[in-house]
Amino acid sequence: MRLLPAPAGSGIVFRRTDLDNFEIPAIGRYVAKVSYATSLMRQGVLIQTTEHLLSALIGMGVDNIIAEVDNLELPILDGSAQPYVEAFLSVGIRTQRRRRESIRVLRAIEVREGDKFIGVYPGSGYSIEYTIDFPAPVGRQSASVDLAAETYGSAIAAARTFGYQADEKKLRDMGLIRGASAENAIILGPQGPVNGPLRLDGEYVRHKVLDLIGDLALAGRRIEGHVVAERAGHAMHTALVSRLMKDRSAWELAHVPVAAEPASTAETNAELPIPVLVGA
Ligand SMILES: [Zn+2]
Repeated sequence: MRLLPAPAGSGIVFRRTDLDNFEIPAIGRYVAKVSYATSLMRQGVLIQTTEHLLSALIGMGVDNIIAEVDNLELPILDGSAQPYVEAFLSVGIRTQRRRRESIRVLRAIEVREGDKFIGVYPGSGYSIEYTIDFPAPVGRQSASVDLAAETYGSAIAAARTFGYQADEKKLRDMGLIRGASAENAIILGPQGPVNGPLRLDGEYVRHKVLDLIGDLALAGRRIEGHVVAERAGHAMHTALVSRLMKDRSAWELAHVPVAAEPASTAETNAELPIPVLVGA
């Protein structure tokens, strides 16, 4: 895949180079089906597994970009957002003249489904509180991340996706983990990871935060508010996006104040200055 700079106001756009450069903007309206990954579809054209790239873009403050892909799936890379972050750092990020808009949450929006829950609340900056409860060896884990104070690169980007060895055959039969391996996921045995040590404390829940940031990017702009998620997943994340998009009285478009951002790119849009190849 190739990531290209884009003019201010373009947002994040996927381009299928194998289909006459057909474009699919990364916005909630095009969310297709959601199970183990998030997919977008426009006029029958699919783009699958969008969440890790979108997460890295929000985390690194890139607003405008064209992501060229020559098939229907984004590369899984190492199962985290780290390779994207490294690609962005290697080419640099250029600020643009137009001011950055964010979605400032004005009142609570909540989605509950059985014991799964997700809600977004007014708050300055962008903070996330996530709790997961998976079978052993993961168990119950929580993480609180303040994207305004903590850097995405050190706290979130490196967290890899994970899967249970016991589920592997079932998932492979369903065609869901084509190419999944010890190189692109934490593989879990009964006692813990079977492919080496974890990269981060709480890597499992941090990966869910990574996914959440990527899925909420489909709101079209960075969120300004506090998100709480419990046992959620891609379906709950994207349900929150559509609920938010439908309820126009729950948020306003705002310009992000400088103090809420760690980088000097705070009040501008940002793009990549030159194209970058990832996972080619
Ligand atoms: Zn993921």
